[in-house]
Amino acid sequence: MKARIDIFIFADALGWAIAEKRNFASKLLPVRNRCETLLGYSSTCDPTILTGAKPEDHGHFSFFIKSAGPSPFAHLRPLGVLPELVAGHHRIRNKVSKWMAGRNGYTGYFQLYSVPFSKLPYLDYSEKKDIYEPGGIAGGQRTIFEHWSDSGKPWARSNWRLADADNIAHARREIEKGDVELHYLFTARLDAVMHRYGVDHPEVDKAFDEFGRNLESLADLASRHYKKVRIHLFSDHGMADVHVCSDLLPRWNRLGLRYGKDYIAVWDSTMARFWFLNEAARATATSWLNDQKDGVLLTDDQLKAYGCLFPDRKYGELFYLLPSGSLFVPSFLNQRKVTAMHGYAPEHPDSAAAWLSNVETLPVRELTDIFPVMKSAAAS
Ligand SMILES: [Zn+2]
Repeated sequence: MKARIDIFIFADALGWAIAEKRNFASKLLPVRNRCETLLGYSSTCDPTILTGAKPEDHGHFSFFIKSAGPSPFAHLRPLGVLPELVAGHHRIRNKVSKWMAGRNGYTGYFQLYSVPFSKLPYLDYSEKKDIYEPGGIAGGQRTIFEHWSDSGKPWARSNWRLADADNIAHARREIEKGDVELHYLFTARLDAVMHRYGVDHPEVDKAFDEFGRNLESLADLASRHYKKVRIHLFSDHGMADVHVCSDLLPRWNRLGLRYGKDYIAVWDSTMARFWFLNEAARATATSWLNDQKDGVLLTDDQLKAYGCLFPDRKYGELFYLLPSGSLFVPSFLNQRKVTAMHGYAPEHPDSAAAWLSNVETLPVRELTDIFPVMKSAAAS
């Protein structure tokens, strides 16, 4: 019997407010606190969890960016003439996404979402490589898994492409073998279920109950194969029910600025990011956006404080952010309303992530603090 295992469990969108309200896994994981999240999405947060670096240092934020040179999507230009109903169909977009990923050798998560085909030739995709594999982080940081390999301790991790049930089954097999001392379990079902049904719904209750039972059972199994079992459950961000749909995008389109001539923009679900091709467009856009009540323009000082002032303005020169519970409908990410969403001001209570453990560790007050805990588990 081995002395100890550290099981790190990532649960996408298990917000602190949600965990507290549900008193989730409080018996199993009594050491718990709010963990501050970042501006952005899982695409911002997960590289920080894996490296301990801030977004402006690891270089990841959101998927779509203004193309600096020739766009990898340039050959999709002919599809821009397709009627929106056909072009927006998810089956068609999934097929094109798969084909694009294969053609360009992308190994990371790739999905075209609802980005209009006519806009794609101006854009590029930021997460081309698998961020869980060596060399996957844009800023060149090594992930926790490379550090674990260096430590010489046996370790294992989930395949993020698989469903939670498969990843939990894999974790169980590894624990039963009793060899690994470090395990990283990736789960994303809570995120999917809450997006679909909202933060409070019988289906969400079911998903939490099932997840809770899986954690108990995993802990029980581990205690039969290891003398000491340390379990750490954490998330990247929270989730908020959507109460307001913003039609800022169609209103913006009526302003008359020309995409690709005056500006480039990416409309994420809760944030619009702009690059300007002439100063007149920048002035018109800034003054117009300032007048709109849907959300707020973020200042450079705010972006700096969020660790998201990217030196090359890779993710946009101007950021417009919606308040918690609002959603752009449509956006480049979604055509229709989504029941719950994340990606708001990180300081909002519904945005905060959670840190839940069965032991005292180094303090985890923000996402950058998770990496040192994972690293120290391999050192002692
Ligand atoms: Zn999500």
